[in-house]
Amino acid sequence: MNAQPVRDDEPFDAAELANPATAALRAYDPGHDLPALRKRFGASIAELGSNENALGPSPRAIEAMRAALADVFRYPDPRGAALKVALSKHLGVAVERIALGNGSHELLMMLAQCFADAAHSVVFSQYGFAVYPIATAAAGAQPIRVPALPRDHATAPLGHDLDAMAAAIRADTRLVYLANPNNPTGTWFDDAALAHFLARVPRDVLVVVDEAYNEFVDATGVATALKFADRHPNLVVARTFSKAYALAGARVGYLVADASVVAVLERMRESFNVSSLALAGAEAALGDREHLDHVRAFNANERAWLVSELARRGYPCLPSQTNFVLADLGRDAGPLEKHLFERGVIVRPMGGYGLPQTLRISIGSRAENERLLDALP
Ligand code: PMP
Repeated sequence: MNAQPVRDDEPFDAAELANPATAALRAYDPGHDLPALRKRFGASIAELGSNENALGPSPRAIEAMRAALADVFRYPDPRGAALKVALSKHLGVAVERIALGNGSHELLMMLAQCFADAAHSVVFSQYGFAVYPIATAAAGAQPIRVPALPRDHATAPLGHDLDAMAAAIRADTRLVYLANPNNPTGTWFDDAALAHFLARVPRDVLVVVDEAYNEFVDATGVATALKFADRHPNLVVARTFSKAYALAGARVGYLVADASVVAVLERMRESFNVSSLALAGAEAALGDREHLDHVRAFNANERAWLVSELARRGYPCLPSQTNFVLADLGRDAGPLEKHLFERGVIVRPMGGYGLPQTLRISIGSRAENERLLDALP
């Protein structure tokens, strides 16, 4: 060993010790310090920056989590068996084809970590969800960022260009990330377009379809990528309890894939990655169909109303099938974001995505949405 002698006179900087993939990363930007803002503005803050569900979870989920507290001194079920059985029945897929994550974020990261490295490339769309380039970089893989559809596209402005994405796949490509609908654009593609795409992808490329907002979709011709799972063993469908089920703070998501994909992920998965409270809450939430229907109906109505009110005031939005809208201002959105922030209305600027002229606005409660509209200049 000819290790460098230890020098005590230079400041210690662990960044120099990080492995190359981590050294190339930047920490996730979580937006404003919300706990501090809640203190400053109290109950009057309108939190429209994180695509949460203003209606809250099923009362049954809260009750189940409360009951689970009695056993909080025990580790959670490392297999998440009860939730997997409930999901298996709900989705009509075998338990062996389901993996659970600490939010779907964890699963999206694990897919790259388990299946890609420096010898591979990963394909995603220009304005695809921010986790895809992070997962790619964390695995040390090469990103292939495919230009989005043009702003004036009829159905999916700034959305995924599936033809270009299929064409971008190389011999070294191991993963493709698609979001349907996508965050932050809110855009979507239909099942026929996905079928056409899947037919063009070789079997040794995993196609991850991130359906975090699936439950909000009511456009015709869009159901779920799950219906293609039998024909395409390389298809992975990721979902979450953070959005329509309103359990963002509990951290639980899942994916459905070929059992062999799940078996690989299980090698990497931290054994107790989903907490006992999250497991209990998610299982109960899944059983409350009525609450989900209520959430869906509320979101669809409120989104349509908010979009028309924003348009009337000169703030056009991209079409959305999610619980947020992307307002496209045609000018730097920074001053408007600041103006709203100063009035306790939190929305998300999109400069980090390369969309500095847009603001992402979550569908809040009616009171929050009115506060947003009232606060507009
Ligand atoms: N996918 C998309 C498209 C998202 O917008 C989000 C959350 N913003 C996630 C995945 C991750 O959600 P979670 O980790 O809460 O399941």
